[in-house]
Amino acid sequence: TTFIGGSIAGLGDIYGQIQKAIGSSERVLEILDETPELSTTDFQKVRMAGNIQFEQVRFNYPTRPELEVLKNINFHIPAGEKVALAGQSGAGKSTIIQLLLKFYPVEKGAILVDGKNISEWNLKQLRSNIGIVPQEVLLFGGSIRENIAYAKPDATEEEIIEAAKKANAWQFISKFPEGLSTTVGERGIKLSGGQRQRVAIARAILKDPAILILDEATSSLDAESEALVQEALDELMKNRTTIIIAHRLATIRKVDRIYVLKDGEIVEEGTHEDLAMHEDGFYANLVRLQFAE
Ligand code: ADP
Ligand code: MG
Repeated sequence: TTFIGGSIAGLGDIYGQIQKAIGSSERVLEILDETPELSTTDFQKVRMAGNIQFEQVRFNYPTRPELEVLKNINFHIPAGEKVALAGQSGAGKSTIIQLLLKFYPVEKGAILVDGKNISEWNLKQLRSNIGIVPQEVLLFGGSIRENIAYAKPDATEEEIIEAAKKANAWQFISKFPEGLSTTVGERGIKLSGGQRQRVAIARAILKDPAILILDEATSSLDAESEALVQEALDELMKNRTTIIIAHRLATIRKVDRIYVLKDGEIVEEGTHEDLAMHEDGFYANLVRLQFAE
C-alpha cells in the first residue's frame, strides 16, 4: 500500500507531477481528496444542489492533440440521480470525471453544475461540493481521526464518530485501544482494503458533498467486507447526485441510468433492463465480457 504524506503542496502543478510519477489518470482521483486545496476553511462553502449537464463536450489532452478522447458528450443528471459510466478501459470515463473536477479547461462545449458553467465556479467551491471514493483508497500517515476529518478539519468528535458509524467503520475503529487516535500509514497499523474503503466513505459522509463520484474497486473484497462497504456506500449515496464508474453488475443494476461509453462517445443509455434487452448492443456485450461471473 502506498501512503501519501499529509503535506502535498498546492494543486497548481500537482496534476502534472502525479501524472509523471504514476503515469495513470486513475491515480489522480485517488489523490484528489488528499490535497490541501480541498480544505474549505478559507472560503464560504455554498451547498450546491448537484445538477450536472454536459453539453456537446469535445476534448483532447493537450499532450495528444491528435487523439479526440471525448466526442460530443451530452448528458443531464438532475440533482439526486444516480448514474453509472460503463465502458471498456480507454473509453473516456475517467476523463469525464477529470473535466468535471476542472483538471483541464473545457474549450469545446460546456459543463454546467446547477446551471452555471464550471469555468465560472470557483475551483475550491466546486471541489468542496464533490466527494470521491476511489478504487484504491490511500490513507496518509496520521490518525484515523485526521484521515476522516480531512475535508472538514473543524469537525467535532461527535460528528466524526457519527460519520464513522454511518460508514460501518466505527465497529472496527472502536476496537482499537486508541480508537480514532490510532495511527495508520507506514508508521501505524495496516488496515485491510475494506477498512480503508470505509474510512474513505466516512470522510465523504463528513464532507457531505452534493455530488459523489464512486470509482468502484475492480478487485473484490472478501464477502463480509463487501457487504459492509456496500451498505456504507448506500448510506453515502442517499440524497446525492452520484456518478459511479461501474465495474460491478450489482451496482449498475441499481442506478437510474447507465451511460455506455465507447471511444469517447455515449453509444447507449438507459437502465440495465432497457440495455440488456438489446442482445447485440454494446451494453449487453459489455455485460458478457466484463461482468460475467
Ligand atoms: P477510461 O477511464 O474509460 O479507462 P480514460 O478517460 O482514462 O478512459 O482514457 C481515455 C483516453 O484518453 C485513452 O485513450 C487514454 O489513453 C487517454 N488518456 C487518458 N489520460 C491521458 C493523459 N493524461 N494524457 C493523454 N492521454 C490520456
Ligand atoms: Mg478510468
